[in-house]
Amino acid sequence: GFRMGIVGLPNVGKSTLFNALTKTAAAQAANFPFCTIEPNVGEVAVPDARLDKLAEIAKSQSIIPTRMTFVDIAGLVKGASKGEGLGNQFLANIRETDAIAHVLRCFQDDDVTHVDGRVDPVSDAETIETELIIADMESLEKRLQNITRKVRGGDKEAVQQERLMKAALAMLEEGKPARLVEVDAEDMKQWKMLQLLSSKPVLYVCNVDEDEAATGNALSAKVAEMAAAQGNAHVVISAKIEEEISQLDAEEAEMFLSELGLEEAGLDRLIRAGYELLHLETYFTVGPKEARAWTIRTGTQAPQAAGVIHGDFEKGFIRAETIAFDDFVAWGGEQGAKEAGKMRAEGKTYTVKDGDVLHFLFNT
Ligand code: GDP
Repeated sequence: GFRMGIVGLPNVGKSTLFNALTKTAAAQAANFPFCTIEPNVGEVAVPDARLDKLAEIAKSQSIIPTRMTFVDIAGLVKGASKGEGLGNQFLANIRETDAIAHVLRCFQDDDVTHVDGRVDPVSDAETIETELIIADMESLEKRLQNITRKVRGGDKEAVQQERLMKAALAMLEEGKPARLVEVDAEDMKQWKMLQLLSSKPVLYVCNVDEDEAATGNALSAKVAEMAAAQGNAHVVISAKIEEEISQLDAEEAEMFLSELGLEEAGLDRLIRAGYELLHLETYFTVGPKEARAWTIRTGTQAPQAAGVIHGDFEKGFIRAETIAFDDFVAWGGEQGAKEAGKMRAEGKTYTVKDGDVLHFLFNT
């Protein structure tokens, strides 16, 4: 599955947010109770109204949403790359994630101390980014020595790696994240294997006060501006509100949200933003037993999409019977769509589309 690391300076609201994320009713949806893998790792259901619609039409007995993993990465402080705080431990945790949700304190509260004594989310963002950049530089410098030895030995892959490492290092030395290096498609695999912390996509999470959740505030506006300039994403959320919502049932939560002038829980927006950030899409499998959502990267072809369910589906892939979500709904389900000629037989080179309802045929 896909993993989002929640990072941020101390006292910005990470734990509040993480706890809300993993306790909320949506996270515990259907057959997938929130499962604690480790104390700081939680899986949440990706909210998707389409899945409920499909289940209703097909009268599916159970609904199984697709999931995303969140990791609460504590201990990030100034100097972490030099081993301050939890230092290397947290760096290792970030390395294992696909993207970073960076929580920024945009709330004013004299009772909650700020590590630097003032509330300035843009500066906080820079502090953390700098730590990631320094950590990347150090790991690259070490690895470059080894790779240079291999290059001299005539290793072709090492030549490619060395070139990418040098490009990354040049960017980092300018104080910029590795994310900004332009990487060709044929280099992408090796580039990803470098696992640079500052190359991960970033979603800024502006944690604002309760009464500013619907509107944002001056600080979150500054973050929005920074995010846009960097090509990163941002969401405005109030961790406090999310914490309260996580203790309510669905109906109560809806009332509470409308009182606050909010259309949906911030967590839903956060999860969806993470989904977008990672260029993820959903396809569905639907039957009387269960309606289920599955996550793929945008551009995934049918056999690899089948492989998300089971490796054997990919190996023995024959074809995918495909109905677009809109057709499935418009024609009242699989049978209706089939009779209307809306079920397509797609082969190995078919690129799965977001919302496709798929049925795989495969050799065993
Ligand atoms: P972490 O160190 O980043 O995990 O931060 P915590 O989640 O432990 O929060 C630190 C303190 O800030 C706690 O006392 C929270 O109750 C408080 N806090 C978190 N979010 C908000 C918020 O939106 N507004 C206010 N006023 N306090 C908050």
